[in-house]
Amino acid sequence: MTGVRRDGDQVFVPVDVILALGARVFEAAGSSPTEARTIITRLSGANLRGHDSHGVIRIPRYVQWAQDGIQVPNQTVKVLQDQPSFAVIDGRFGFGQSVGEQAVDIGIAKAKQHGVAMTALRNSGHLGRIGDWAERAAAENIVSVHMVNVRGSLIVAPFGGIDRRGSTNPFCAGIPVAGQEPIILDFATSVVAEGKALVALKGGKPLPPDALVDADGTVTGDPRPLYGEVPPGTYPDPNNGPGALRAFGEHKGFGMNFLMEMMAGALTGSGTAGELGETQRRRFCNGMLSFYVDLDAVSGTPTESGHPFATEVMNYAAFVKSARPTEPGGKVLIPGEKERMTLAERMKTGLPLAAEAWDDIVATARGLGINDVDALIGAAR
Ligand code: NAD
Repeated sequence: MTGVRRDGDQVFVPVDVILALGARVFEAAGSSPTEARTIITRLSGANLRGHDSHGVIRIPRYVQWAQDGIQVPNQTVKVLQDQPSFAVIDGRFGFGQSVGEQAVDIGIAKAKQHGVAMTALRNSGHLGRIGDWAERAAAENIVSVHMVNVRGSLIVAPFGGIDRRGSTNPFCAGIPVAGQEPIILDFATSVVAEGKALVALKGGKPLPPDALVDADGTVTGDPRPLYGEVPPGTYPDPNNGPGALRAFGEHKGFGMNFLMEMMAGALTGSGTAGELGETQRRRFCNGMLSFYVDLDAVSGTPTESGHPFATEVMNYAAFVKSARPTEPGGKVLIPGEKERMTLAERMKTGLPLAAEAWDDIVATARGLGINDVDALIGAAR
């Protein structure tokens, strides 16, 4: 691939370009070369799978957080309770891409030893695309479930309400399938993740018309009520707007959103989103409660005709996909399939980004004193 290609309000950034630039940015922000590479690999991996909300658009915000001490580079997790099949883990506000990986590896190791495991991670920096963690477990033949909340982030209104009371609280599960790609279910429990509102605000893909509620209770797809006024030269802050995102799935989706606060916020000890009126808003972090089941331990031994669990899963997936599509020429997809299709396409095209989002990333790199930015991103800038 060559350099960055600009096409009107959009740019296409080759994967090797964003990896090189991003690694330099996070090193300049204080991370070790290994951590910097991990962070940018995971962020760009989210873009490659179509989740631009949790991708490189977050670079300026992550750098700001490192500078403000909200996320701390190069942290090693502290295991507060270490039992054979569960652990309580303090992420010590490290970058989620790094402390998340450490916590997930503890869960995987325990499940490998005891068949099942649970981990409660508190005080983690932003964990990004949660599907990463389910994929990591699935690569070890482990089924996993992850419930996540966002302490300190009040951006989602409850069902039937206008005021902000919670966050986008994702839910994720991964099912490994022997010899095939894993099945990965991974979504925010708001209509859209906050980053999707940010993408729309920056000129990217528009939001569904029911994504937000305005200050007066009007349902809207306009992202501006989430951010309010964004003074020139500042980065949009979802804490500043008069409106809120809406929980998905009406009362049932809101129930899931609330459950994430109970499991990932209260049960892990990380703390719930918080309450308005606290003199200081709670420090931002993700909490994550994860369950791991080692398929080698529980799902029966493979026979000549294959692995019974994988066979059952694949047969059912094929049955589901055989349903007639509602749209002519449409396709029924199973969880994780869309991301895989997008990955295949974007590995070829590069990461499509709104030009404004790309300009913010380049400005962040320059602001950190990286003086060979032009060489890193290619002449076509
Ligand atoms: P989304 O609305 O795109 O939903 C994604 C899920 O739906 C995936 O499992 C996908 O395979 C499935 N899917 C998509 N299209 C489908 C179709 N046509 N048929 C069947 N299934 C389909 O995702 P989202 O809610 O915008 O979340 C985006 C990302 O944001 C996720 O990776 C999530 O983990 C992340 N997130 C992270 C945080 C955090 O604090 N770390 C907070 C919120 C969200």
